[in-house]
Amino acid sequence: MKLFGFLKFFRFFKKINNAILILLIVNISVFSLTLYWLKSNLEANIIKYTIDFYVATSQNISSRIKKYIEYEQFEAMKLVLQQEYYNQDLIFVSVYNSNGVNLAYISRYPRFVDYISRRDMSSFNERNIKFFIDNSLIEIDDKVKISKLLVIFVPIVKTIISDIQDEIYMGHMVIVFDLTKLDNQLRAISFYSNLVIFLLSLLSIVISFFMILQFYRPIEYLKSLSVELSKSKFSFDKKSFWFDEFNYLVDSFLRMAQVLEQQLTLLESIASFDALTKLYNRGAFEKFYSAIAIESKMKIALGLTRTFAVVMIDIDNFKKINDTYGHKIGDKVLASVAEIIKSRKRNTDIAARYGGEEFIIVLNVSTKMDALKFCLDLKDLISKIEIEVDKGNKINVTASLGISFYPDDSNDKDILVKIADDNLYNSKRKGKNRVSLILNERVVEVENVQQMNYLLRETRAELG
Ligand code: GH3
Ligand code: MG
Ligand code: MG
Repeated sequence: MKLFGFLKFFRFFKKINNAILILLIVNISVFSLTLYWLKSNLEANIIKYTIDFYVATSQNISSRIKKYIEYEQFEAMKLVLQQEYYNQDLIFVSVYNSNGVNLAYISRYPRFVDYISRRDMSSFNERNIKFFIDNSLIEIDDKVKISKLLVIFVPIVKTIISDIQDEIYMGHMVIVFDLTKLDNQLRAISFYSNLVIFLLSLLSIVISFFMILQFYRPIEYLKSLSVELSKSKFSFDKKSFWFDEFNYLVDSFLRMAQVLEQQLTLLESIASFDALTKLYNRGAFEKFYSAIAIESKMKIALGLTRTFAVVMIDIDNFKKINDTYGHKIGDKVLASVAEIIKSRKRNTDIAARYGGEEFIIVLNVSTKMDALKFCLDLKDLISKIEIEVDKGNKINVTASLGISFYPDDSNDKDILVKIADDNLYNSKRKGKNRVSLILNERVVEVENVQQMNYLLRETRAELG
């Protein structure tokens, strides 16, 4: 379970914007922690030095010390202190003997070394070396709240007075510097560093959001394109993005969609059309016919009128044509009949090659007689086709037709086709080159318009 939770967390990173967001949070955290660490390190505003303190022993110690001070032996120390901490206030000096007993204090004295050189040295003695200035003695010891101490042992004084042979170790001297000034400087620096860090963070936020947008938007767009494409949508509004790579991808994608659309259209036409007759093939016809049947049922259910006729056409003695003149001539006949069908059918009619030399038409007509008229006309035109079989020799073809009518004959689409087919075979049986249909529940075959008109009159008489 734990592993699963971890995997879930890991999956969170698989989204670009989440990953960038986490990067941003890590970035800011590292910045803040670094800043905090720096600040806590810079907060030590007091530095304490402890140095060994040697005094030269002599019969007349005060005059010796005075002498060395007069010779500016302390100048070196002054120089060091002034050079290294020129901008800091010396706040406290304390001198201890080798047993750790405090001998003297000096406090709040910015020019410590100058003071020594100016002081009347008569107050010095071996046991009690006291440094005072203007009576402003502040006794500061180690218990004073000093946030951080930096303790360095440097035998500066020993070095300074090393030319004296009879020097003795007196103890050590503690010098404390107030680094407030330095702290203020550091604070100023830290203000600017904070500002820089803040601005950098701000910039990184802006950059991150920019990156999120510039990564996220094109990826979302490409994702939506591929979803649309999978739904067979091929035309898209082209969007452009900041990164060229994405624009290149979008271009390729749109080109791919274009090619796919062309290929699909080609495939559809190959799949829907019969190559020889350029009419719909049977598969395509079935689709259209199903749609027409559903639409018709819906219209009838809504109380609207909807009629159509199904016409089956079969070329007469086609096998003989093939056998006598060859398949090429047979093909020519098929193409010519198809041309006639195409020229006669209206846009609202659906014509297809149903089988070898069989055609089917769904005629958008309102009466059986209109369908019959259409079929007689078509039959006549087919019979007028002349196919050149060899130089000067031409042959004619005829066709037999069968009609069924929706909804009079049936409201079932398959039964309608069956009835049309049965009627077609009635035409064949009765001598070919004619049109059969059901009139007054009888199958009748019609050869020409005169017969049709006769039938019409007869039907009317029958119906009274
Ligand atoms: P009927 O008058 O009774 O219709 O006889 P028919 O000879 O026309 O009918 P039949 O079904 O016996 O023959 C149909 C022939 O059509 C058989 C087949 O070789 C031929 N045929 C089918 N498709 C094609 C085609 O694409 N090209 C050619 N040339 N012939 C085809
Ligand atoms: Mg035939
Ligand atoms: Mg046939």
